[in-house]
Amino acid sequence: MIKQEIEKLNKEFLDKSPKEIICYVLDRFGTSRTILASSLSIEDQVLTEIFAKNSANPRIFFIDTGRHFQNTYDLMEETSSRYGFKYEVYAPSNEQLERIVSQYGPNMFYESVELRKKCCEVRKVEPLKRVLATADVWVCGLRREQSVTRSNIELFEWDHAHDMLKINPLAYWTEEQVWEYIRSKNIPYNSLYNKDFRSIGCQPCTRAVRKGEDIRSGRWWWEDPDKKECGLHVSNVVKEG
Ligand code: SF4
Repeated sequence: MIKQEIEKLNKEFLDKSPKEIICYVLDRFGTSRTILASSLSIEDQVLTEIFAKNSANPRIFFIDTGRHFQNTYDLMEETSSRYGFKYEVYAPSNEQLERIVSQYGPNMFYESVELRKKCCEVRKVEPLKRVLATADVWVCGLRREQSVTRSNIELFEWDHAHDMLKINPLAYWTEEQVWEYIRSKNIPYNSLYNKDFRSIGCQPCTRAVRKGEDIRSGRWWWEDPDKKECGLHVSNVVKEG
């Protein structure tokens, strides 16, 4: 897909709802080649509800890093049974995981940014590459206001890292809009949000945030804000063409 077409889609869908965007994508690219990334966040729960209601066989994947909160696994089961689908689960390679944990220890992420990124690379990025190789389009719950690293994301983007189309239907939504949608549809959400968590990832790298703090300040809280990505979302520019 070329830059001009992506720009056209971004203009065309600027005022459209996430449901309209997702239905367009499912219709144009097909349900078997369009996949939703879910970490069970509130944003991903909104998109899961839309996917499940608008596709007979939704493809929704979860990367099981092995370090998630029990609450996340509980929500996964609840969501799966509520909407009647099974998550596609991807896990780190045994060999790579055994090697890094043997070499650097089970808490390597606290040692340095490099070791934290190495852990994310093995537990998240490598499984992500495998799942994305099975699709042409991936859909994510990223929002512009989440962090400085996401302030320029578009509804439609070319993901250079994976050479495929990436869709962010909630790019312009606020956190309040997400909660309104969750409440209006009675969508299940991670109970940790009731304990001041506002962005939830792996248990050792996530903590609750205080009032007034940035949404993602509870993720890798020991690092600078501009380094707080795990490598899953690395390219937000459209393809030249
Ligand atoms: Fe490892 Fe933490 Fe990254 Fe999870 S978030 S993969 S535990 S460094």
